[in-house]
Amino acid sequence: MDPSESSEEHSDDLTVSDFPAGATVLRREEHPISRKFIDPDALKVMHRLIQHGYTAYLVGGAVRDLFLGRTPKDYDVATDARPEDVRQLFRNSRTIGRRFRLNQVFFGRDKIIEVSTFRATVEYEQDEETPMLQDDNTYGNPESDSRRRDLTINGLFYDPKTYSVIDFVGGVEDLKNSVVRIIGEPTRRFEEDPVRMIRAVRHAARTGFEIEPATWESILKCGGLISACSRARVHEEILKDLRGGHSCEAFLLLERSGLLSQLMPDLAKFLGEGGAEHRDIVGETLRRIDRRHADGVEISPSVLFLAPHLALFPEECYGDLDLTRDKIAQLFDGLGITRREREGMEQIIALAYRLFESMGKDAKARSLFTRPNFDQAVILIELTSVNELGRKCVKYWRSFRAPVEGKRARRPTNRRRR
Ligand code: ATP
Ligand code: MG
Repeated sequence: MDPSESSEEHSDDLTVSDFPAGATVLRREEHPISRKFIDPDALKVMHRLIQHGYTAYLVGGAVRDLFLGRTPKDYDVATDARPEDVRQLFRNSRTIGRRFRLNQVFFGRDKIIEVSTFRATVEYEQDEETPMLQDDNTYGNPESDSRRRDLTINGLFYDPKTYSVIDFVGGVEDLKNSVVRIIGEPTRRFEEDPVRMIRAVRHAARTGFEIEPATWESILKCGGLISACSRARVHEEILKDLRGGHSCEAFLLLERSGLLSQLMPDLAKFLGEGGAEHRDIVGETLRRIDRRHADGVEISPSVLFLAPHLALFPEECYGDLDLTRDKIAQLFDGLGITRREREGMEQIIALAYRLFESMGKDAKARSLFTRPNFDQAVILIELTSVNELGRKCVKYWRSFRAPVEGKRARRPTNRRRR
């Protein structure tokens, strides 16, 4: 029978052999996750694997979010099928990853369900250049796959065949008690992959959960290990903090944990030495970032990194590209920003400066609002303005833009270009 057609109420018929040994299993009536709230394409992927005789569970952040009644951002599936078998089952998929191969199954234009084979413990912090591992001992079973994950609340499985939640790591208890806890011995897990410290902080900020004392103590002790991480991974995690809707809470926790002085030493110093005034400036900018994201506004990575740092740019930078460049390198090189982001920052700072200068001068304005980064420059000013002048500037450029756009739209479109 196609499990997708069965009713959710029938989990009573299951026997112990339907579940992996060693796990705590919550049957359908013992947990709040309903299939109704799981993305239908994620269910389709799992059911197809199950129909072909494989095990397939929903894993990671999606199970956590569903348990908390939130809508998951993305869906990850773990299975005992090997990458090549998964690839065969889904025409709309591709295999990625050198070190550990997994499959992305595509639906529509931008939905991706990631399917990975149960792993044994795999070191995250490995060089991307190392040759692809195809050794059988890369693969594991549900238990090893759960235990190699970062936080207990991220280590749960949802089994669509039995509608059960499967817990090897105490994640259900921690979800119920609002606790962020690393799986296993904290110091060992942070030494293995220091990025997990940033992840623990982000998930605490996002959920409002408390970081469990041993995990917290270990973060205080291990902060220095961050410098050994790949900058690209740190970059990705910080960007997730800035986009996660709780950036203010996340930065506060990064600061309290000492991680901020590893990641963004200049910002940490600015906050540490500036008293309440500096904290207010940065805190307000981060809150504005969160509010704009909640409104669905797109903020580029360049602006996301720049905005909380803007008060660290001395006035001489404005209008001086070399000084701006030096400051950008000083503040962001350690964060592994991309060339594109760096160039974006240079353009946006220069443009924001000109927007202030050209405020009220309509003739000049015409040449500025068509610039590629115009919107992002206005957003930067909006996120960082601390006085009436900044607010006026944003208002001017927003009001100026709308009627001009209207006028352009009415022009005949077949005019010959000069
Ligand atoms: P988000 O909602 O931000 O996507 P997430 O928990 O799903 O949160 P992902 O980065 O999508 O985070 O990772 C998916 C899962 O992979 C995590 O839930 C966790 O189980 C595991 N994971 C990710 N990074 C690590 C890591 N550094 N060490 C161990 N496990 C990790
Ligand atoms: Mg995720």
